[in-house]
Amino acid sequence: MECYQCLQNGINRDAVGLCHHCSAALCSDHIFAVEEPLMVKHLMAPATIFPKKARLLLCSTCKVALEQILTEPATAGDVSR
Ligand SMILES: [Zn+2]
Ligand SMILES: [Zn+2]
Repeated sequence: MECYQCLQNGINRDAVGLCHHCSAALCSDHIFAVEEPLMVKHLMAPATIFPKKARLLLCSTCKVALEQILTEPATAGDVSR
């Protein structure tokens, strides 16, 4: 499979992975590995956020788009007092 992003620029380059979101094949220059926080939401208590994060491979387009949600601050459990 060839990198989708490179093909857009008229270049043929072998892909190393797929974007998790749009399934585009991507080369090492165009693939991004981000850390996805894992959490479990509880009905009556703050959400549990696990210390180990999952890996998510994304293209540049989906990375920018998904970072809008991934970086959203956790406001549910503000019980500092
Ligand atoms: Zn590429
Ligand atoms: Zn994508």
